[in-house]
Amino acid sequence: MLERCIGERRIRQIQRATRNLKLTFLCLLLTLLVLRGTIGAGKYGTPQQDFIELRHRFISHPHRALAEEHQPEPKPKQSDKDDEPPLRSLNNPYSLGPKITEWDEQRANWVRRHPERPNFLTKTKPRVLLVTGSSPKPCENPVGDHYLLKSIKNKIDYCRVHNIEIFYNMALLDAEMAGFWAKLPLIRALLLAHPEVEFLWWMDSDAMFTDMAFELPWERYAPYNLVMHGWDEMVYKDKNWIGLNTGSFLLRNCQWSLDLLDVWAPMGPKGPVRTEAGKLLAKTLKDRPAFEADDQSAMVYLLVTQKDKWADKVYLESAYYLHGYWGILVDRYEEMIENYHPGFGDHRWPLVTHFVGCKPCGKFGDYPVERCLKQMDRAFNFGDNQILQMYGFTHKSLASRRVKRVRNETSNPLEVKDELGLLHPDFKAVQNRAS
Ligand code: UDP
Ligand code: MN
Repeated sequence: MLERCIGERRIRQIQRATRNLKLTFLCLLLTLLVLRGTIGAGKYGTPQQDFIELRHRFISHPHRALAEEHQPEPKPKQSDKDDEPPLRSLNNPYSLGPKITEWDEQRANWVRRHPERPNFLTKTKPRVLLVTGSSPKPCENPVGDHYLLKSIKNKIDYCRVHNIEIFYNMALLDAEMAGFWAKLPLIRALLLAHPEVEFLWWMDSDAMFTDMAFELPWERYAPYNLVMHGWDEMVYKDKNWIGLNTGSFLLRNCQWSLDLLDVWAPMGPKGPVRTEAGKLLAKTLKDRPAFEADDQSAMVYLLVTQKDKWADKVYLESAYYLHGYWGILVDRYEEMIENYHPGFGDHRWPLVTHFVGCKPCGKFGDYPVERCLKQMDRAFNFGDNQILQMYGFTHKSLASRRVKRVRNETSNPLEVKDELGLLHPDFKAVQNRAS
């Protein structure tokens, strides 16, 4: 009857379609079962639980999901332990490497043989390498990695405007010198590998440039080998552990600096050496809390105890913020914008804002992490506005990632002058070798 109504051919088509439908349904069922098995079915396997778990894995932490997919089962505790060197005993003094002598002569010869890589870019402006870095591991607080990115972007911008080379380090060159001591072996390796570099500028990852227009007064430092932000009286008289700051400093590439690194390093090795040295520092230095030895306290200790040997080549700068403590600066940005302009580098427009104690990458800082991150965004935008103005933009506010135009587009782009003159500043000019 049915056959007669719709025809034999049509019936066969319907039967084939039904078979295909059954097969498709079976495949769908199998796919669902496999997905539930591998991606997770939630605690009770309810659709709601599935949805929450899937969203959690693929939307809120896409990088985590990918990392888990492509890496073998992580055993961080175990493998980290394997990397750790045995702890050094107190009677086994640490050394950064083989003693180097006559570096000044060796380096001068190299510079003479390489006129194409002069150690001075103009009569007074040295070739500078800015060095910064962070731990080889991802941040314990995942958002910390985003702030490391902002911080290196900020430094790249300053360096590009000021014709400074930049190096970012993520390798722990000496496992004993983990944490804030990691900079010492790194600095030594870079000085030796780059004889063309006159000054190395160390800058912490938690420090940002907030004055993009300020050029360092290089002539002032001609007679010195180490320049740090600080005050002579607070260091040499008060022995105060915050009389200087080692989060942003200049070190000349010379024998004196290699010798200084050699005497600075011995308090660094992790374990009983660093712990015992911390006790000595807490006992000797003013207001120094009791914790393991840090590079800054060790520097103050060195200058206090061996003043005759080192002080004449150390310049403690307080005329501008080579390092500026964030606590006294970040709430004044609006006032600075109101009254001043970039280029001062000092309390009117600080060169550097350093988020001491914030530890945005770690778990435990000395300040609430929300306050730190909010203020780091403000410092970043404050500096970034000076970069964006070159291209005709500015952040909508210091709290905003979004930007707005500050000038109309023009059909004569080369006639546009940026307000701060940062597009083609004089301090970026390189000496014409023929002259
Ligand atoms: N640092 C590094 N590798 C590490 C840990 C730290 O290179 O494994 C660097 C990083 O640039 C960091 C600096 O050491 O900014 C000093 O540490 P921090 O800024 O946390 O100390 P604070 O300025 O708060 O005293
Ligand atoms: Mn720091």
